[in-house]
Amino acid sequence: MVKLSIAKILQIALKAGRVTRKYPSEQPLLTPEFRGAIRIDPTKCWGCGACVRVCPPNALTLTPKDKVATLEYFVGRCIFCGMCAEVCPANAITVTKEFELSSTSIEDLKSGVVHRLVRCSSCGELIWTEAELRATVKSSPISEEYITLCPKCRKLKFGKAAMLGRGGSSE
Ligand code: SF4
Ligand code: SF4
Repeated sequence: MVKLSIAKILQIALKAGRVTRKYPSEQPLLTPEFRGAIRIDPTKCWGCGACVRVCPPNALTLTPKDKVATLEYFVGRCIFCGMCAEVCPANAITVTKEFELSSTSIEDLKSGVVHRLVRCSSCGELIWTEAELRATVKSSPISEEYITLCPKCRKLKFGKAAMLGRGGSSE
């Protein structure tokens, strides 16, 4: 280990000058790599839950209740890792440089997106969010009449169609 004399340390310090900033009267240095709070675009989010699954401190939650599912972001728990933005298939999450996040109200630290839930058009079983269904219809080669069915009804319908296609009977 290199040992420096006090005189040498003083010399280096004088040459460098003051490196700390008098925040808040001076703006802090935010590097290009700096990560602050995330922002979720409600017009892009599908409610798929991928971000919730990767979030290490559970700052994101997705809770279905009655006819809606709410994606909630609690910035008080966020460790600003940016993993949610990396996995989001809809590019709905932006990592901002926002860091002045303190508040006297815990509610100010929460934000969310509310999604309408959809049910199977045949048996009424809960499928998932309307937004995710719409996104799937757009990107999938499967016809819409199959997409609006739950996996069980889809399998049944496909099985019947396959049998009829071979000239057999579905009954
Ligand atoms: S679309 Fe993105 S922001 Fe919305 S739930 Fe899925 S991963 Fe999260
Ligand atoms: S930045 Fe990290 S900790 Fe914060 S919500 Fe996203 S995944 Fe969770």
